[in-house]
Amino acid sequence: HNHVDHATVEKVEAAIAAGDTHAHVPDYQTYADYVADGGYSALTELRNSGDWEDVQAKIKESGLRGLGGAGFPSGTKWGFVRANAGPRYLAVNGDEGEPGTFKDRYYLERTPHLFLEGMLIAAWAVEADTAFIYMRDEYPAVLEILAREIKALEDAGVVEPGYIDLRRGAGAYICGEESAMIESIEGKRGMPRHRPPFVAQVGVFGQPTLVHNVETLHWIARICREGPECLNATEHNGRKGLRSYSVSGRVANPGVFLLPAGSTITDIIDAAGGMAEGHSFKAYQPGGPSSGLLPASMNDIPLDFDTLQPHGTFIGSAAVVVLSDADKARDAALNMLRFFEDESCGQCTPCRVGCEKAVKLMQADTWDQGLLTELCTAMSDASICGLGQAAPNPIKLTMQHFGDEI
Ligand code: SF4
Repeated sequence: HNHVDHATVEKVEAAIAAGDTHAHVPDYQTYADYVADGGYSALTELRNSGDWEDVQAKIKESGLRGLGGAGFPSGTKWGFVRANAGPRYLAVNGDEGEPGTFKDRYYLERTPHLFLEGMLIAAWAVEADTAFIYMRDEYPAVLEILAREIKALEDAGVVEPGYIDLRRGAGAYICGEESAMIESIEGKRGMPRHRPPFVAQVGVFGQPTLVHNVETLHWIARICREGPECLNATEHNGRKGLRSYSVSGRVANPGVFLLPAGSTITDIIDAAGGMAEGHSFKAYQPGGPSSGLLPASMNDIPLDFDTLQPHGTFIGSAAVVVLSDADKARDAALNMLRFFEDESCGQCTPCRVGCEKAVKLMQADTWDQGLLTELCTAMSDASICGLGQAAPNPIKLTMQHFGDEI
């Protein structure tokens, strides 16, 4: 079809050839290294004689859920996409714009081929005509690595030239929302679509589309290579699996930590070397700004999918930010709402106007809690997408747990 252009790959290749990228590219596992380690044999076997339903069964057995934040069972999606006649597409969500989230970058800068093999396995499973990668432009090293390694895959004959179409995001948070990302891939302004129809039915260029997050695909490759046990053999606090927590804020060693999915904030702070010197633990953001803030006293909740719903929040992309006695929860919540005000795509009133009103109300010395509560209800009930629906979480949780500050 005519819609696909390869401008990004060409531009990045030209920049590399001219020695003109500003990217600091770390050492990573190249195509040759990965193949020497048995890489791409799973894909080759599947392409020769694999049954997609066997792979789907393995993925379901592993318990893998979408790691972009929504947590939808990954194998189940394949069936939804395949139920619709082709041509079908795969679109990888590599926008990773949730503040505090940097796990996809972490994996892409180290083991890009686990991601790429997982992507090609998923593309094989739904018989995708093209695999689009929508990559965050603020990750120049990742763009360079992907451009190089996609070329290596083409040169080695693993994919036809042009089969993988690398696209750059342009810094809009909302383009991490899957339907807005698809609009952006189509060359339009990134605004979320109404659902139904779901993207599995009507996605890129109106065709059925499988959307997966980068880390989800990394695990799909690992499950195919190592078996479902690589995820489901770990159990902690009654939760199965592993979770890549992006940990930042007032901890001694910020970073990405692969820990049991049932880890509590206490486990996570321990993994990050404890609190930074001179700071004592006060509050934490469990999963991006949409998840708001919880107080240090709530330190025994396993931070996993489903476990935070009773507390009015969720794990999302597992972007944990730790606050200390040097921070104010109300300032952090205001900062979150300012972010949503900036990033709202503006197509629906409750979110566009609601975020702006919320920021004004939260700047007052004393919060008008009655009015803020009404505003939160209107935003959650009447916004089109998750941005406007979840933007009230920092407000509600701050009123609930940090009343003395507001
Ligand atoms: Fe756009 Fe906000 Fe409406 Fe989402 S909720 S569609 S970001 S205006």
